[in-house]
Amino acid sequence: MERATLADGSTVEYFPEPIGEGAMKQVYLTADKSSVICFYKDPSAGSNPNRIARLEAILNGFNPTLGHQGDYYKKLFCWPTAIVKQPHLGIITPVYPSNYFFATGNWQGKEKEGKWFVGKTASGKLLRDLLPEAERGTWINYFKICIHLARAVRRLHHAGLAHSDLSNKNVLIDPTSGECIVIDIDSLVVPDLFPPDVLGTRGYIAPEVLSTLHLPLDDPNRQNPRAETDQHALAVLIYQYLLGRHPLEGPKTYPAASAEEQERMEMGSKALFVEHPTDSSNRPRDLKIPYTALGPDLSKLFKRAFIDGLHSPQKRPAAIEWERSLIKTWDLLLTCRNGYCPSHWFVLHNRNQVRCPFCGSQPKGNIPILRLRKEIHSGAWTLDGEVVVYHNLSLFKWHAFDHVFPGPNADRTPQAYCVLHQGQWLLINQNLTSLTSPKGNLVPPQSAVRLEDGVQFRLSQEPHGRLVEVQML
Ligand SMILES: [Zn+2]
Repeated sequence: MERATLADGSTVEYFPEPIGEGAMKQVYLTADKSSVICFYKDPSAGSNPNRIARLEAILNGFNPTLGHQGDYYKKLFCWPTAIVKQPHLGIITPVYPSNYFFATGNWQGKEKEGKWFVGKTASGKLLRDLLPEAERGTWINYFKICIHLARAVRRLHHAGLAHSDLSNKNVLIDPTSGECIVIDIDSLVVPDLFPPDVLGTRGYIAPEVLSTLHLPLDDPNRQNPRAETDQHALAVLIYQYLLGRHPLEGPKTYPAASAEEQERMEMGSKALFVEHPTDSSNRPRDLKIPYTALGPDLSKLFKRAFIDGLHSPQKRPAAIEWERSLIKTWDLLLTCRNGYCPSHWFVLHNRNQVRCPFCGSQPKGNIPILRLRKEIHSGAWTLDGEVVVYHNLSLFKWHAFDHVFPGPNADRTPQAYCVLHQGQWLLINQNLTSLTSPKGNLVPPQSAVRLEDGVQFRLSQEPHGRLVEVQML
């Protein structure tokens, strides 16, 4: 065993043989196998005061895995736990949880980088299709991954940090559970400190950063990674997870003197959304499912990210907007009745033509929609959400009350559920204390309200309790 000395003077034993290597770091397993030590390969790293100041800020000043909700964010970030000073500069991070390694198939034991799930082979086949069935996960789990990732980035930005290199490589995803974890935390952009010398990863670098990369580091026109560039990468990742393709990689090319210059134009100064509404020159021929199939809230954000904000960073949606819109859209998900559907779920948003965009199937029978209203002042109710009902759907406090948000700390006890019973849709109370029938009678737990077109009832009579209006499709 070798021995490393940490910044606080304590020591840690580690195995002498490296277990992995990246562009900047060499990785060793600690003797207790709970963590890894990542040593910087650059021999001058230890004498770089910017790097040390940044690591100290990341570990101590801006660490979301400490304190309030820290345990929750430990699952979303592989955050460094200590700085190593001897034999040379490094950091200690926890080992990735076991669900982020393939359990079966050709890639067994490899880390679940996003590329395995959204990348393509040279011949254009989805890599995902080469994975064993058990590793592919379901579309609804990709949706969950998006919520978790938006939440993680929102938390970073809330602390004033930026990741600077969000990508398919630095976000591990587990589509079998819907979880994700952000890794490579040591190059964060920290307020008031010199930015890291990270270039980002191909396909995720914001256009303004890519098109000014050739300028010297101290050139005022050079655009460096910051929250807005993370916002671009976040939008790219969400688009890839939900639609299985890259938003800027299309047939359009720009002949240039070098491959680098060509890349700088295609993904930088001349980058063009593959689904641009008026310029279809970058549209792939086999583009089947448009982004608008994901419902109105997500459509608005994709439009801002890739049409209005692609070359105007300040117009890009913030991570919190993605988190909120994804959660709102979650309530519009409906199961597809086609057993062979590649997705099994879709967003029901076009009420005139209810059809699964992934397979074209149409649902059978009535579908109740719960239109949620909140009281803005006495007796005045405004629409602030909708829930598409399917058999055994649960309702939670964030549906019943307008001031509850389904964030990390939310109470996840089901308050009521909906069932189709003998041809009749029912909402069955479980834990709501003042659910009131359309006629104004209290509905105690274990009792039901019939869901019929046009009826209205209160989920709660308490302050912030919502009103439901039922619409039958
Ligand atoms: Zn379908």
